[in-house]
Amino acid sequence: MIRAYNLFRSRASMANSMLRAGPAAATQKRFLSIHEYLSMGMLNKFGIDTPKFIPAKTPEEAYEAAKKFNGEPVVIKAQVLAGGRGKGHFDNGLQGGVHLVKTPEEVRDFAKKMIGSKLITKQTGADGRICNAVMVAEARAPAHEYYAAILNDRVTQLPVLITSNQGGMSIEEVAKENPDAIITTPIDYTKGLDLKAAEEVAHKLGFSSPKLEKEAAETFVNLYKLFDQKDATQVEINPLVETKDGAVLCLDAKLGFDDNADFRQEDVFKLRDTTQEDASEVEAGKYGLNFIKLDGNIGCLVNGAGLAMATLDVLSLKGGKPANFLDVGGGANAAAVKKAFELLLQSKDVRAIFVNIFGGIMRCDVIAEGIIQATKELQLTIPLVVRLQGTKEAEAKELIKNSGLKIFAYDHLDEAAQAAVQKAETQQ
Ligand code: ADP
Ligand code: MG
Repeated sequence: MIRAYNLFRSRASMANSMLRAGPAAATQKRFLSIHEYLSMGMLNKFGIDTPKFIPAKTPEEAYEAAKKFNGEPVVIKAQVLAGGRGKGHFDNGLQGGVHLVKTPEEVRDFAKKMIGSKLITKQTGADGRICNAVMVAEARAPAHEYYAAILNDRVTQLPVLITSNQGGMSIEEVAKENPDAIITTPIDYTKGLDLKAAEEVAHKLGFSSPKLEKEAAETFVNLYKLFDQKDATQVEINPLVETKDGAVLCLDAKLGFDDNADFRQEDVFKLRDTTQEDASEVEAGKYGLNFIKLDGNIGCLVNGAGLAMATLDVLSLKGGKPANFLDVGGGANAAAVKKAFELLLQSKDVRAIFVNIFGGIMRCDVIAEGIIQATKELQLTIPLVVRLQGTKEAEAKELIKNSGLKIFAYDHLDEAAQAAVQKAETQQ
């Protein structure tokens, strides 16, 4: 289901771009992502070197942290779950989420501007993400910046090590402009990453000595160990550097973990920071509902990721755009359906609600009860288009008819979608 929703987001943006309406607003993945300072702690546990670092939640803590570096230059880095921090900007005008600084006083000044403000990067969308902590780290001047990542690869159906000697910048750009600069090494997951293969990669990347090549190769092997043992879906180090003082270090770390493995990775999943996620998506999760925000004007309530995608497609065909999707799954009760409506209505852009349910395990009459309750209690004023098919359909229709509420009910998806699009367009 979670995987399906990742596909769903890309499908939503595909459908939107087909309509030349720009990408979907939501880019958030359903895989757990953890802050850089926590990622670095995990790297260290796997024997992977990083600069020394101290997290801080207040300017005073940042000041105290900076003093521990004994006058050495440090970097202060906004702890926000998004890439591109270095080139981002804060909503208060401060440019850059990563700064090289010389004194503890300077660290405190930066921390004052960063903590409590929102950082906007090319990955956060226009709203940005709140910065609640910074990381003070030892500055280690890079002689060269590399890229290294472990990911699951669809083509080979294996984990792969992806490396490049053009790190530091966006790997998507390197892939587009200079694909030869990317080395992809498949990994036999029964054996792990072979040290010999890792050494060959390190050699091709061109570290400046055999000793550093060896260190880089060991880093790759350990990155895969982490990926494997922690049920990661993404381990991305950008940049991995050779420093001027002759060390191989991870200066940045982005780790993602498979939500399906939360039951056996409790320690990792405890590290979740919901302040970095969309509040309504977090709220939906508490009710066992899947909520996806998009950027159109039709609020959609469906059951199942497949039906959600079909609904998105049909609405797009009819010239409409979903504002969001709420998937009630198979086990929702009337109270959860009501909650679902509340969440759908939170988006100020919603001009019509489209309920498209294919009753299987989820009974249509339960949905109908929830709809009626929600319509009454939430004093719904926008048009509600409903298409209920399947288990307990007749009972559901009876309930809606007897409710006396103005609900537009249809049997066929095509006409229902058409109606939802029209009503959203005409509604002010
Ligand atoms: P992001 O990818 O979110 O922009 P990074 O952690 O990659 O953030 O930092 C941006 C750049 O800042 C890096 O490419 C690197 O050049 C520099 N940098 C980051 N950490 C350090 C450090 N500890 N010492 C020196 N330079 C650093
Ligand atoms: Mg980076």
